[in-house]
Amino acid sequence: MLSDSSFTSECPKCGKKALIKRQDSLYQCLACNFKKDLEKPEAEPSGIALAFAIALLIILIVTVTHYGITNPCAPNDLQCIERERLNR
Ligand SMILES: [Zn+2]
Repeated sequence: MLSDSSFTSECPKCGKKALIKRQDSLYQCLACNFKKDLEKPEAEPSGIALAFAIALLIILIVTVTHYGITNPCAPNDLQCIERERLNR
């Protein structure tokens, strides 16, 4: 019989108290082969960061195309804005 400390907690998948520590952060259930790596966070920060980067890129593209094509003038350059309006 293994010592009590090797059986750490109930398996979140099958509910049996058969979760053993395989490595420093890796736990495995003897009953259903469920594995849990404690070093891996529940959420995926890389996916969130990627989505955030894509959102920033879209905002940048929209901003550049909006001001670069429809309005080449600086927002506070009223003479340029008036000239562009008359040319169209
Ligand atoms: Zn299990």
